[in-house]
Parts: sequence; structure tokens; C-alpha cells
Amino acid sequence: MLELKDSDSAVYSLVQGELERQKDVLNMIPSENYVSKAVLEATGSVLCNKYSEGYAKRRYYQGNQWIDEIELLAIERAKKLFGAEHVNLQPYSGSPANAAIYFALLKLGDKIMGMRLDMGGHLTHGHTVNFSSRFYKSSPYTVDRETGMLDMDAVRKLAETEKPQIIVSGYTAYPRTIPFKEFHEISESVGAYSMADISHIAGLVAGGAHPSPFPFTDVVMTTTHKTLRGPRGAMIMCRKNDRLARTEGLDEKETEKAKDMAGKIDRAVFPGLQGGPHDNVTAAKAVAFGEALKPEFKVYAHQIVANAKALAKTLMDNNVKLVSDGTDNHLILIDLTPIGIGLGKKIAVALEEAGICTNANTVPYDQSTPFKPSGVRIGTPILTTRGMKETEMKLVGEWIAKVIHSPDDAALKAKIRGETKELCNKFAFY
Ligand SMILES: *Cc1c(COP(=O)(O)O)cnc(C)c1O
Repeated sequence: MLELKDSDSAVYSLVQGELERQKDVLNMIPSENYVSKAVLEATGSVLCNKYSEGYAKRRYYQGNQWIDEIELLAIERAKKLFGAEHVNLQPYSGSPANAAIYFALLKLGDKIMGMRLDMGGHLTHGHTVNFSSRFYKSSPYTVDRETGMLDMDAVRKLAETEKPQIIVSGYTAYPRTIPFKEFHEISESVGAYSMADISHIAGLVAGGAHPSPFPFTDVVMTTTHKTLRGPRGAMIMCRKNDRLARTEGLDEKETEKAKDMAGKIDRAVFPGLQGGPHDNVTAAKAVAFGEALKPEFKVYAHQIVANAKALAKTLMDNNVKLVSDGTDNHLILIDLTPIGIGLGKKIAVALEEAGICTNANTVPYDQSTPFKPSGVRIGTPILTTRGMKETEMKLVGEWIAKVIHSPDDAALKAKIRGETKELCNKFAFY
């Protein structure tokens, strides 16, 4: 970034500071990842200069011959990666993508049934302060109080009494396998769309380390910047045909339009909600999908899970309680309730002092408030990207456990800070 250094030293040194932080600490926030330099280059390319409202070969601006090729290539790779019938790559991020899905498939006031936020669901799945419960009704499901896991019988019963128009699976803080097939069957049985938001686990799905919501789920959304290891952004994948299309009283042309799920999604994204796509990000998505199609990515996805399992075991062996007593994916939710209620933030700060970056999070049925949650959420995508394996997870797990049990011990935190620095140097990145 020599140009930036010369022209704007203030921004340059701030970016440099963040780079050093990323190299120097164990980043364990499960929604983050470190992208390749190729993805960074595409994101920072001249494609950020272009306007291309519309879709390939149907643009509102001239000069899109290269952009069209890039978007089509990215779509082709996404289809290959997930086995989707239709892909829209233009959503700016996960939340706008979810807005587009509801806008495409629901009427104002229709009912969304997703997981409650404090149980691991996302804001956009019907949380009170979010547009998804201001414009739509929300009937959230929960996890089982004893096991911390999904109770599909309870989900089925709730769907039968609440009769939602869309059932959302996929979460931000759920450490277990998601039974997409069952979610779809329940949706079908109550006449609802099935939607899977695989933002967190898309990389695992692409790499075969988590069951796929394809081909049965009606619509699948994912961000591209989490386990999928691409640029910040999102995409919507869906069936070509809308199996719930209401066609009574429509003429032939209108019927065709009503059945065209892909068209509805595309029109909801543009011109429904967005203007011009971020072409630089589209190119970076293509690069990331290209990387994810390589055999190494399968190895990566499985190693993420193996690392999370090794880490979970070490934590539990060291008297740390985990929600659902383990993990099947890339993330672990530490339940601090046995030590004290509302300690999440305090422990996250102590861990950061020791060189381990995490985030405070509610645990299911948290006895405290979302502002003072009782859990800490950690994950292995970045450490795995850096090349760490089970041996390192054991070390990291022991450090985390020590900090949890003695968060005020400054000498301990300083000692571990030295050790985390050393480990980061050994697994250098960027
Ligand atoms: C991260 C996430 C989103 C939102 O993505 P943003 O890009 O932050 O808007 C949506 N749903 C789930 C399940 C997520 O984990």
C-alpha cells in the first residue's frame, strides 16, 4: 500500500495497525476469517469504478462487457460449489439479502418463524428491534432448555399452531448440526417456504463438513465472508420454480411470472432494494469460490470442525461448561453461568488481554441481559486458515480455561499473552 502510505499517512497507519493486530492475536470470532491476498486484490481492484445496475446482458449502463463476464463466472462457480438452480450475487451483505428474500416471497404482515436471537438466531430472523419483526410478524422457536439443542418436535408443533409463511433455519451461535431436511419437511407440511441462512457454515457446507440444505430448500442465503472465506457480501440461492405460487385468477403470462421464484428474488434485490452491485466484490466472490472449489478447501472445512472438537474437549476437560456439551461445527458457545451470571464481557476482555479475541454472547435461557450476557462465543475458522491443528487447539484451550478460571490474574494474562504471540509468529499470515 505504498500509494496510500504516501498520500494519506493517517489512514495508512490505522490500516497498518489493524494488520498488525490480525497477525499478532489469536482471532477466534467465529463469523470472521482471513481471506487470501488474491481476494484482497480483487476487492481493491479498478472494478470499484464501474456502475452496472441490472443483470448480465441486461444492464442499464454501457461498458459492462467485462463485468458481465465476471458476474457470470462467479455465478457459475457458486452453482458448482453448492448445486443451486439459481444464484443472485448482488446482495451487499447478509442483512440486505434476507430483506430481499422476505420482500420477494412475503406480503407485509406475513409471519416469519426463525430461532430467537438470544438462543442463537440472527437479528434478521424476526428480532423485535429489526425490520423483520416491524414489517412482518414473528413467531420464534427456541432450543431445548436441558440440552441446548434444537427440538424438532417443538419446532413442528409451533409451526402447526402458528402457521408461518416462511420457516428460517441457520444461526449465528448454534454449535450443532442443523437438520435442513426436517426443516423443509415441516415447512412443506404447513404450507410455508423453507429458508436456510447458512451464513456461518457456508464454508463447511461447500467443503462437505456439514449437511447441505440443497437441493430441497426453497431459498438459501449466505454471507460470503465467514467460513466461506471470501469478501464481505452475500448471495441468495433458490429454486427456479416457486412451489407455493398463488396463481388463481391469473392469465398465462402472470402465472408464469408468479411461478418464477428466481425472477422474484432477482427483482427484489434489484430494483426492489438495491442499486448498482459492487462489482469489485463480485470479482472477489468469484476468486473465493474458485478457491473453495479446490480439493484443499475440503481439507480446510474438515479441519475447522476437527479443531473445534479438539478445542471443545480441552475446554471441557478443564472444567469449562459448553452449551450442548460440545460442537459439530466451527463454533463453541462457552456457558459461564456456573462461574457467575453476566460474566461474558468481563471474560472476553480478559481473553483479549491474553491475546485471544472472542465475543461475549448470550447463552440459551440466559439469566442475565443481552447487554451483560453470560457466555463467550469462539470459533476456529481463522486459526485453521493459519494452519493450526489439534495440537495447537489443546494449547489454546488450556490458555482459555486458565483465563476463565482466573480472569483477574494479571501475571497469568501477561504470560499467556507472550505465548499467544509466539504461536502467532509460528503460524504467520499476510
Ligand atoms: C452474519 C449473519 C447475517 C448477516 O450478515 P451481515 O453481513 O452482517 O449483514 C445473517 N444471518 C446470519 C445467520 C449470520 O450469521
